[in-house]
Amino acid sequence: MAAGGKLQAPRGTFDVLPEDGRRRSQLRALSEELFEPAGYGPVDTPIFEATELFARGVGETTDIVQKEMFTFEDQGGRSLTLRPEGTAGVCRAYMEHGMHKQPQPVKLWYWGPFFRHEAPQAGRYRQFNQVGVEAIGSDDPSLDAEVILLLSELLTRAGAQGVRLRLGSLGTPETRREYSDELRDYLRSREAELSDEVRARLDANPLRAFDSDHPGTIAVVKDAPKLLDRLNEEDAAHFAEVRALLDEAGRDYEIDAALVRGLDYYTRTVFEFTSDALGAQSGVGGGGRYDGLISQLGGPHIPGVGWAAGIERILMVSDVEVPGVGPDVYVVRDGGGAVTEFKALGALREAGFTAQMEQAGRSVKGQFKQADRLGAKSVLVVGADTLSVRDMNTGDQREVPDIAEALAALKEVLA
Ligand code: AMP
Repeated sequence: MAAGGKLQAPRGTFDVLPEDGRRRSQLRALSEELFEPAGYGPVDTPIFEATELFARGVGETTDIVQKEMFTFEDQGGRSLTLRPEGTAGVCRAYMEHGMHKQPQPVKLWYWGPFFRHEAPQAGRYRQFNQVGVEAIGSDDPSLDAEVILLLSELLTRAGAQGVRLRLGSLGTPETRREYSDELRDYLRSREAELSDEVRARLDANPLRAFDSDHPGTIAVVKDAPKLLDRLNEEDAAHFAEVRALLDEAGRDYEIDAALVRGLDYYTRTVFEFTSDALGAQSGVGGGGRYDGLISQLGGPHIPGVGWAAGIERILMVSDVEVPGVGPDVYVVRDGGGAVTEFKALGALREAGFTAQMEQAGRSVKGQFKQADRLGAKSVLVVGADTLSVRDMNTGDQREVPDIAEALAALKEVLA
């Protein structure tokens, strides 16, 4: 940027201002209230990790790893990457801290910023925030159902509109490999109709054809063989149980045989919550089972399941609302002297009132105006030798002898 140019937040990023910040805090509180009683403990992993973690965890052939990572070298020449997703880091932490020695499954939840170098548009940013849960150490289908229902409930409590759940299963890596070969042969037979991108990745990952928004590819994919029809007996039984548990819980879903998520580590269950209230970027949150991820990262074979949801997207479709609240008391400074006025403010706060004080040199009239603008319920006027309490609702004002009496009078006014 030229010297003296207007400084702006980088492309694809945004500032969170107080009103928005309060909604976020509210959503975070809703998350915590939901996850903690279900046995999910908070986890926080670094915002940057060794690049290799994502290359191995998320998958070399994914969009994320191929073109969306913010990667940089530290001063020791190590390649680091701003985390593009949360699961790989949580699994690394699980291994690094020997959490496999704790009673399984280990249930965790997280909240924080993630980074992807995507083309910015409404609901798609380069720095965004996700809330997520992971249940690691068991492949019991009830965990798949549990995490799905947690996200469903979070969206309900947040008042999210037009929510739908799509559900699929990717089976085991072996099934997927055999199916990939079958799919690749099929796609080759109609190669001319496919997008360049899908064609370029036919060898590495033909399943990504299902993710394409290219009309030719969509038409080809419609008639493609489906992975759901190729599941082995165990995976089919696992999927049937997940569905039965969701049915039992009364959670609607649509089976989507073409649901392929943008991350390579998924096995068996995959799901996505969308909202009709969003535009092209309709995904609110999604996830699935990742039974091979920890071994892919160099650990033992330990299964896991989880999801991540976009905080900005949830807020875009929900009615979480937190009005700013005016202070209980505004301290008007009318010649009391800085020490007395500041002491009064401290006494108010100590007594449990929300209190603010004039700090911009306004006239007394201006200070009352300011108290009104803030929505203060009452005012404490600190004069040279007087103290008075005013009820901003009725306009009644009366003098009090000392701060103890002022606190008592304010309690009455605010009752
Ligand atoms: P993913 O980690 O790709 O499964 O994404 C999970 C959720 O994170 C999505 O459903 C979105 O709500 C959100 N998300 C992913 N990428 C972005 C982005 N670039 N900007 C905003 N939200 C995103």
